[in-house]
Amino acid sequence: MGNIKERVAYLQGLTQGLNVSNQSAEGKLLINIIDVLDDMAEEFNNIQMVQDDLETYVESMDEDLTDLEEEIYEDVDGEELVEVQCPSCHETVTFDASLLEDNEDLEVSCPHCGDTVYDSALEMEVTAIGNGQNNDFRYGIHPGI
Ligand SMILES: [Zn+2]
Repeated sequence: MGNIKERVAYLQGLTQGLNVSNQSAEGKLLINIIDVLDDMAEEFNNIQMVQDDLETYVESMDEDLTDLEEEIYEDVDGEELVEVQCPSCHETVTFDASLLEDNEDLEVSCPHCGDTVYDSALEMEVTAIGNGQNNDFRYGIHPGI
């Protein structure tokens, strides 16, 4: 936007350099047009500043939201986890037990080799590992079932 202001300033200088005068109809018209351009450039500038502020604000809100999500999901993860062993690479894959309840067609792929480690259609077995802190197996006694 600074560029527009510079170009308008150049035009303003040009009208003076070329002796464009308010006395002639054309001169009056040109000077008024350039005045309007100047106002518009100023207005653009203000909008740009407001936009920048808004962007900063939205970014900080986004960061706060991310922090909040991490806090909430950490709690959820801490409550109920299940693990399965990958049939291909034999890595142990851990995921949130609530996924099992929320999704009828659930497929979990191995983060190591990408193979499917859990498929709800196959009625595979999963091992509940509780919250990892006191090892109480909460999976299966979830409230509301
Ligand atoms: Zn794997």
